[in-house]
Amino acid sequence: MTHTMRAAVLHSFGEPLMLEERPIPEPGPGQVVVRIVASGICYTDLHIARGDWPGKPPLPLILGHEGTGEVIELGSGVTHLKKGERVGIPWLYTSCGQCDYCLEGRENLCPHQQNTGFSVPGTYAEYVLAEAAYVVHLPNNLDYYEAAPLLCAGVTSYTALKEAEVHAGQWVAVVGIGGLGHLAIQYAHAMGVHVAALDISEEKLLLAHELGAEVTINTHYQNPVARIQHLISGAHAVIVTAATADAFTKTIGMLRRGGTCVLLGLPPGDFAIPIIDAVLHHITVRGSLVGTRKDLREALHFAAEGKVKAMTDIYPLEDVNYAFTQLAQGHIHGRAVLRIA
Ligand code: NAD
Ligand code: ZN
Ligand code: ZN
Repeated sequence: MTHTMRAAVLHSFGEPLMLEERPIPEPGPGQVVVRIVASGICYTDLHIARGDWPGKPPLPLILGHEGTGEVIELGSGVTHLKKGERVGIPWLYTSCGQCDYCLEGRENLCPHQQNTGFSVPGTYAEYVLAEAAYVVHLPNNLDYYEAAPLLCAGVTSYTALKEAEVHAGQWVAVVGIGGLGHLAIQYAHAMGVHVAALDISEEKLLLAHELGAEVTINTHYQNPVARIQHLISGAHAVIVTAATADAFTKTIGMLRRGGTCVLLGLPPGDFAIPIIDAVLHHITVRGSLVGTRKDLREALHFAAEGKVKAMTDIYPLEDVNYAFTQLAQGHIHGRAVLRIA
């Protein structure tokens, strides 16, 4: 084995990633080294690379938190994984295990968590170091490419549906039919929930229709509040995955009385909530952050059972900056995935 690997590295915010040779990591106690085959490109990676968020990671940084591949090295004390095992590397690199949130099984809220491709090196690389307790076993019938988007987009949209508290026969409106949204549609259907899909792109709405959304609305041309209220008398829940703040402003008005709006998109900014409507209509607004390890296993299980399938646009690692541009311009069909091995 050579001792260096190829990786896409962010050196300064707003600049393209650089393809570089980096040392292959060695596992410490409780860690594993994974040879990466595929890595999804989440819009979060774009936010990080542009420096959109107030919290900034230390640079240089290898991005990526939807990695899939094979365990090649085990650190001491790792007993539940084997060499050659097929695994996924999620956003949650590690959590403290001791805080109130960790003890409640809500480790995705741990204030001491570390995140793959943010506080530690990520999966846009031929090899990555991972904490054995936080990698997930991949079901045998999922290939590396269709599994990768589930590591963040899948678990995030699946968990959002649970947080939305929608039930079979009810309606969810999904705002933004990209990486997260195209999976949210499928998880909703698998749960027996009707879907209204909203986007600014006709291509995304066509995909939503193919994936089974019963209602599609182009918010560029149509007033989403009027359309949703007219067509389905309001949604029981709205899930907002758009990465632009203006997409959030109309979401409360789309809800039915008693409805829940789940916020997933992470554009910087804020939006106004009309107090009287929110109170009189008994509205809940809730943020939702990725999911727990248990949520991730469940999210993968839906795909293993054939109920959810990520659509992928595959790019070689060296085209990562082109893939970023395609994502920023709204040209990705489902999820962009890097071919690394
Ligand atoms: P994406 O680009 O694949 O999908 C976003 C979709 O929103 C696109 O289809 C785009 O056309 C659509 N859109 C843009 N403006 C819109 C508008 N005004 N109205 C309706 N639709 C609009 O991005 P993604 O990878 O799915 O990520 C989306 C956001 O979710 C990002 O901000 C990302 O950081 C965030 N995210 C959050 C979590 C979490 O845990 N909450 C996890 C992953 C990603
Ligand atoms: Zn992500
Ligand atoms: Zn903790």
